[in-house]
Amino acid sequence: MNMSTHVPLPVVGLSGFESRLSEEEAGAQAALHRFAAEVMRPIGREIDRLPADQAYQSGSPFWQFHQEVAKLGLGPDALVGLEPAMAARMEAIVMEELGWGDAGLAVSTGAGAMPMLMAQASGSQELIDLCAGKLGCWAATQPDRGSDGLILYAAERYPGSQGNKGNLQASFVGDEIVINGQTSAWVSNGAVAQVALLDIVADYGEGVYGSDGTTYGCNVIVPLDQKGISRGRPLEKLGKRALPQGEIYFDSVRVPRRFAVATRDDYEFKHAHAWAHAGTAMSHISAGLARAAFELALTYVHERRQGGAMLAQHQLTQYRIGVIGTKVEAIRSMARHVAEYTKCSPRAHPYFTAAGKAFCTSEMMTVVNESLQLFGGVGLTREFPIEKLLRDARAMQIEDGENNILFTHYGYLLSQLHQQESWARA
Ligand SMILES: Cc1cc2nc3c(=O)[nH]c(=O)nc-3n(C[C@H](O)[C@H](O)[C@H](O)COP(=O)(O)OP(=O)(O)OC[C@H]3O[C@@H](n4cnc5c(N)ncnc54)[C@H](O)[C@@H]3O)c2cc1C
Repeated sequence: MNMSTHVPLPVVGLSGFESRLSEEEAGAQAALHRFAAEVMRPIGREIDRLPADQAYQSGSPFWQFHQEVAKLGLGPDALVGLEPAMAARMEAIVMEELGWGDAGLAVSTGAGAMPMLMAQASGSQELIDLCAGKLGCWAATQPDRGSDGLILYAAERYPGSQGNKGNLQASFVGDEIVINGQTSAWVSNGAVAQVALLDIVADYGEGVYGSDGTTYGCNVIVPLDQKGISRGRPLEKLGKRALPQGEIYFDSVRVPRRFAVATRDDYEFKHAHAWAHAGTAMSHISAGLARAAFELALTYVHERRQGGAMLAQHQLTQYRIGVIGTKVEAIRSMARHVAEYTKCSPRAHPYFTAAGKAFCTSEMMTVVNESLQLFGGVGLTREFPIEKLLRDARAMQIEDGENNILFTHYGYLLSQLHQQESWARA
């Protein structure tokens, strides 16, 4: 027996301890990584320093990015033909690299495809044509309806309270849908999108409330060059500045009823589907962002000397790098697990996806924060990209559902499984 006393270094890939990427997956990862490094990072940093009023104007780096990313063919039909588990893995690889490049531009790309995703799911060629080549947005929140839009069960509301009807409603009248009100300022791409997937409260002729006080809902695809639509100014914000956000106002905007992709009977199901899709994308993006921060920290501790040696040579630094490196692997594993379950389970649930999003983004926050801490004071300056990553990561604790709320929904789900299906009874 040939016993070696030397343990060789392990096999690692671009994204970390990756043991089984197929040739196609490795090829896609390498191509996306190049794009993220050469196109997304420079453009993301450039937009980050511009005032919001200038950042998204026609001809700006934001639109240059969208021209470039469109050439990659990453739209919803890119995964057609792959069996669900393979599609989930490929999506994970792609979204992680985009998140590594720039989390704001990654979300802009993902949110931009939401109307097309639902148009394709509806099978309506008219809606597919309507969304083709346009930057989209998913408008689900309003000034008075933030976390409340994510409540799926009446029992989760405060006892005696009704559902929140928010500030934007659709009225179904004959063959038309009439839309009035406004979105929140937080709709990703809202300030510039050309088409919207509205995920809002609806009146089908009997008011907006069902018998248990829950609101009726609908998903409608709306071209945003219509009469009666106006916009707020792009939001000035702490992080994710490469992602344009802003209000969209609707003043008696009319679209044909056939533009609805979910109505009274199938709304809850399709809302859950869209939200779960967004949650998986957020998890992969946070894996990419966490890895980007970790790589910066790992590089820096091999450049900075203190205590008579490189930081990397001190045991304390090795421990700290070990902790955040482990978290990066855990975030990726969780993101892929949730994505695979969501795509492959015969009955997935957005509260599980939400738990994945909350876990991945909160662990990511710890990784980015500790990475900045390893830089010491210079980490706070604009000389180093780590401060931008911290600002981008902070936004993701609230985006697509505030994390405490998401963990609460998951806890409610676990309790229901326990009570109703005797699941996990000790
Ligand atoms: C970067 C970014 C991108 C976004 N993109 C989109 C988008 O594309 N489309 C879209 O529609 N929206 C988008 N949003 C909006 C996002 O979904 C909301 O910000 C989020 O759901 C929280 O809502 P809110 O900001 O109104 O906070 P609120 O719901 O007002 O919450 C404020 C605080 O109150 C707490 N809270 C809320 N409800 C309860 C309760 N019942 N019990 C106890 N505490 C509670 C929360 O935990 C939170 O700490 C985005 C937000 C961000 C930051």
